[in-house]
Amino acid sequence: MVDTERYRCPVCKASFRGANLCPRCGATLDPILRIIAEASALRAKAAQLVQSGHFEEARQAAARAQRYDATETGKNLLLLIQWYLKNTAMDSQTTEI
Ligand SMILES: [Zn+2]
Repeated sequence: MVDTERYRCPVCKASFRGANLCPRCGATLDPILRIIAEASALRAKAAQLVQSGHFEEARQAAARAQRYDATETGKNLLLLIQWYLKNTAMDSQTTEI
């Protein structure tokens, strides 16, 4: 789902209204919509990777999603994964001693 307040046409700055063409200037918004969808898919993949314990792969997917389309939710997901990675690394260090 596209947040109409957050996304604006790169040509005329009109907010998105769920169409593939800008309602004001007619510019095609497909490339932007694809990037937003890819970022969303990457966040979903990152969440699945976290659930299966693959934290480094999850971090990579979440970081890529943020580069494509930075969101507050994506930032929180990335911070959570980084926390997991840090604490998992600390746990493995303590068990090695
Ligand atoms: Zn426009």
